[in-house]
Amino acid sequence: MIIKNGRVALPGENDFQAVDIRVEGEIIAEIGSDLSGDDEVIDAEGLFVLPGGIDPHVHFDDPGFTDREDFYHGSCHAAFGGITTVIDMPCTSIPSVINGRNLLEKLKIIENKAVVDFGMFGGVPGSSFEEGFPACMEELSGHVLGFKTYFISGMESFTRVNHFQFKKVLEKARELVLPVLLHAEDYDYVSDATVSSMKEGVSPINYYRSRPEAAEVLAVLSAVELVKETGANLHIVHIGTARAGELLRDNDVTGETGPHYLEFDVRDFERIGSPLKCTPPVKLPENKERLWKLLDEGVISFVASDHAPCTEDEKNTGSIWTEYSGIPGCGTLLPYMFSEGYMRGRISLQRLVEVTSEGAARRYGLFKRKGSIEAGKDADLVLMDPVKSWIVKGKEFYSKGKITPFEGMELKGLIVKTILRGKVIYTAEEGIKVEGGYGRLVKKEAG
Ligand SMILES: [Zn+2]
Repeated sequence: MIIKNGRVALPGENDFQAVDIRVEGEIIAEIGSDLSGDDEVIDAEGLFVLPGGIDPHVHFDDPGFTDREDFYHGSCHAAFGGITTVIDMPCTSIPSVINGRNLLEKLKIIENKAVVDFGMFGGVPGSSFEEGFPACMEELSGHVLGFKTYFISGMESFTRVNHFQFKKVLEKARELVLPVLLHAEDYDYVSDATVSSMKEGVSPINYYRSRPEAAEVLAVLSAVELVKETGANLHIVHIGTARAGELLRDNDVTGETGPHYLEFDVRDFERIGSPLKCTPPVKLPENKERLWKLLDEGVISFVASDHAPCTEDEKNTGSIWTEYSGIPGCGTLLPYMFSEGYMRGRISLQRLVEVTSEGAARRYGLFKRKGSIEAGKDADLVLMDPVKSWIVKGKEFYSKGKITPFEGMELKGLIVKTILRGKVIYTAEEGIKVEGGYGRLVKKEAG
């Protein structure tokens, strides 16, 4: 396959380059001018060519909560959004991925479902300290890209760790040379703030007040302190508070944010309500532009969608306290960052590539194969028409989750084709082009 006449986002470049890409089998064989000698030519005249997106934080809920999402629908939605690799969270499937046996059981169930490549995170809930720890982490270590933990959890099947347990996880993960991922909201603060805010009412603002900026900052502060003590490798997921993001600047800790924190604030939450309910909730308006800046500066390493859809009933319970917390996002992640980040001049082309692909590939040990358009790497590519716009419509989503806070938003840039390992897996005209099972498990590379 040769992709001709496109304008290509090469790593480290702040302008698109007019080069052709020759793909042999699954791999990028050559990048250069006027390439020829292949029967299959894709004419990318007028199109941008970006590296396949990596969404390093999705909940595909499979097996266990497949009425919300499963690996097939979730990965189709990813392909539609130009994502060629996802990393699945361990906590929202039954069984949750907390030991080797559960992981193998899950892999067997999903092996014929994915249309994009996928990595796995393992998880360490507090309950692992009653049974399994630290052997559970050792069993998982050859398969997973990191270990997810929660300072506070709303899930009965995946409980929180306290600070002492968290320190133990950090130490063990360091020994296993893997990162720890933290859901950073302070347990003490949120527990009592929830009781108090519930008495105040059932509006979105009441939910926000139970988990405001301070809850996130306190959690990141204590996590950073324990990293100093252990020298461990920590990543903070879904940062929505600029002050929490600032804490990464002088500490050896990485973080991600997501489109919903960049786009929305509490005023939108009051207006949109349940479709925007996620945990942590969106914050006060002043956070948004500061988060964009932290992202552009590289203090926040990359974006992730925290894709976590649910059924319509679960989003329509009548009270913000009982609405399901989570939104579908893997299909809008890259289009949103392209339109509202790059096209609006908030982030450079180089940063666009880094925050949607390269950053996560480097962070999780996938960069030899994924994360940039370079000869010798997997031919994971997105062809984007920068002139066309489209309107986000939840009912057209491939995901099982159709309720999105981005409903009705116009985004510049239409994804025309998504290519994974040299194969077209999605086109705007024809939809999904491969069967479930084409997507493969990716593991951390040696070295
Ligand atoms: Zn999540």
